[in-house]
Amino acid sequence: MPLPKSLIDGHWRFRREIHAADRRRYQQLAELGQTPSAMVIACCDARVDVSAIFDAKPGDLFILRNVANLVPPFEPSGKYHGTSAAIEFAVLGLKVPNLIVLGHSHCGGVAAYRQKVRDNVAKAGFIGRWLTLLDDLKPEEADIFAHGDETAFELAAIRSSIANLRSFPFVVECERDGLLALHGLHFDIGSGELLGLHPATRRFEPLAEE
Ligand SMILES: [Zn+2]
Repeated sequence: MPLPKSLIDGHWRFRREIHAADRRRYQQLAELGQTPSAMVIACCDARVDVSAIFDAKPGDLFILRNVANLVPPFEPSGKYHGTSAAIEFAVLGLKVPNLIVLGHSHCGGVAAYRQKVRDNVAKAGFIGRWLTLLDDLKPEEADIFAHGDETAFELAAIRSSIANLRSFPFVVECERDGLLALHGLHFDIGSGELLGLHPATRRFEPLAEE
């Protein structure tokens, strides 16, 4: 089975138009390596185009995507930790100054977790196991009041991922030394709006233009 024609055509448009127009930048990136300004932990959802949301260029963002933008707690004794490995590399290897957890509206992962809780069934498979990271997730009353029930759950998942990031000793150390800042953002697919977790008020507020 060949690749879908739309992907092959898209690749050649990329080669002729985008890569050709920015060839110098790509060559520099190839020679000098990457120095991204942030790591973004986002959802796999096809509607969440991280680079487009930030109008970012190749090399700008170190992006990890998984179901529901979740971060597991620090578990050095576990087996295969793709998310933790990426966080370790970004913080200790690339020394990114920003770690961003990017949630989004209409998140199927968060909805699946809420469904699981409603139906009171333990789902088998990888997703069921992965979503146990959200067990006992409680949306904050203020988030429900300000943004509605569905969004409040998505915001709670972002808060949970940030809390779990702080279970990694190297994240805590870098944050304490002022080398790393943690951020929580929520992207609304329909409106394009970003909510940002305010460090002082601990509330999600629309991201203001500077
Ligand atoms: Zn999602």
